[in-house]
Amino acid sequence: MPKHSPSSLNPRAPLVLDTRDLPRRPGALRTHRRVVPAPADLGVELIGVPEGADLDLDLRLESVSEGVLVSGTVTGPVQGECGRCLRAIDYSLTVNVQELYAYENSTTDITTDEDEVGRMQDDLIDLEPALRDAVVLTLPTNPLCREDCPGLCPECGVHRDDLPADHSHQQIDPRWASLSQLNRTEE
Ligand SMILES: [Zn+2]
Ligand SMILES: [Zn+2]
Repeated sequence: MPKHSPSSLNPRAPLVLDTRDLPRRPGALRTHRRVVPAPADLGVELIGVPEGADLDLDLRLESVSEGVLVSGTVTGPVQGECGRCLRAIDYSLTVNVQELYAYENSTTDITTDEDEVGRMQDDLIDLEPALRDAVVLTLPTNPLCREDCPGLCPECGVHRDDLPADHSHQQIDPRWASLSQLNRTEE
């Protein structure tokens, strides 16, 4: 199996960072600030960044001895629904990104696993996997509209916020009521 997947990164893809203007001299620095559309499936089951939403990249690219260190923040809108009451959840999420990308054929490239340290493809960095990890780790697996959301009444589906505290369903279902009526006439 080849150590590298064939160079297939598109330098114009929104989450591909082009380092051609960053000198390969430790300490050299470039900032990368731009707004790009979010990729598909940036999130978890109930909550995530909608595809195409604005992602605000505020990154620093720094040359280190065997690669490029990318650090900074990515901010974007998150939408989802409350796991208890299904109300819409909508807020702005900022995640920190810090990832080292080794130059191809550097000692780091040769001596570390690909899941330990990122890899550059020529002068290009694919930020998407690191961003995806950062976003998924930050999102709640069980999102709530608020921490103490009481959820819905399982009987009538009305939000408990909109029901009196003593709300209950003690009344007999009308269908059962007529059945007990039938029983009575048979007696
Ligand atoms: Zn809720
Ligand atoms: Zn109810």
